[in-house]
Amino acid sequence: MPLIRLSGVTKSYDRPVLAPLTFEILEREFVILLGPSGCGKSTLLRLLSGIESIDSGELLLPDGLSPSVVFQEPRLLPWRTVVENVMLPFELSSLSSGRDAGRAQALETLRRVGLFDFADHYPHELSGGMQMRVAIARALVTKPKLLLLDEPFAALDEVSRFRLQEELLRLWRQTELTIIFVTHSLSEAVYLGTRHIVFSPRPARVIGDRGSALPIDERVRTASEFQREVEMLQTLQHSHQTQPTLKDGVQ
Ligand code: ADP
Ligand code: MG
Repeated sequence: MPLIRLSGVTKSYDRPVLAPLTFEILEREFVILLGPSGCGKSTLLRLLSGIESIDSGELLLPDGLSPSVVFQEPRLLPWRTVVENVMLPFELSSLSSGRDAGRAQALETLRRVGLFDFADHYPHELSGGMQMRVAIARALVTKPKLLLLDEPFAALDEVSRFRLQEELLRLWRQTELTIIFVTHSLSEAVYLGTRHIVFSPRPARVIGDRGSALPIDERVRTASEFQREVEMLQTLQHSHQTQPTLKDGVQ
């Protein structure tokens, strides 16, 4: 079942950022968006989250979808405890079913990301990886159908990144979540994604869109099949080289 349908979607600021984009995202997919810096990936996430609107084309989303977004920085409020940070979405929306219910749900979500024991700590007392888990808990507390992540693990050390990748996969398996995830790391892309969409340099158009050939339970980073997938994505990314300009060529 398609969850999202884009048909000829464009977006420009001073210059075109998104060329007409046409594709569908199905329910329960774990979609990885790849493409060079500045090609328009974050812009696309802002359109999907409803923070900004498209210029032309059609973007079909289910009513009341209200996706949650996780950014590269956890963006926690330093003066609030972990559980108070996770409760924030209830306070900012009309979803609130009372403070006690909100707190109970926040604690339950913290348990799912392994941070129940840190509920009353402040963000500065946690490591970067733990802060990111709080950000993910805050995104999940409202039980969204769609989770958008914009390079969420890029600032973390490798050990934390691997651990968080595994936790995110586990959360995705246990829920009905559809995930759209932006990364520059091809091995992260292969480890997590069920599908990879590769964009050209700005204005972004789709130059590759392929389902993962690796079953999710058989993703071992050191396996040759895994490396082959990484190389496949690398080739796709480089399949769109900018044409040499006149001065580079023979006159
Ligand atoms: P990516 O996330 O793929 O690195 P972005 O979506 O952040 O790319 O940006 C795509 C292009 O749009 C960039 O050239 C950027 O400078 C431009 N851009 C993004 N947001 C704005 C804005 N609010 N106003 C003007 N230009 C913007
Ligand atoms: Mg970006």
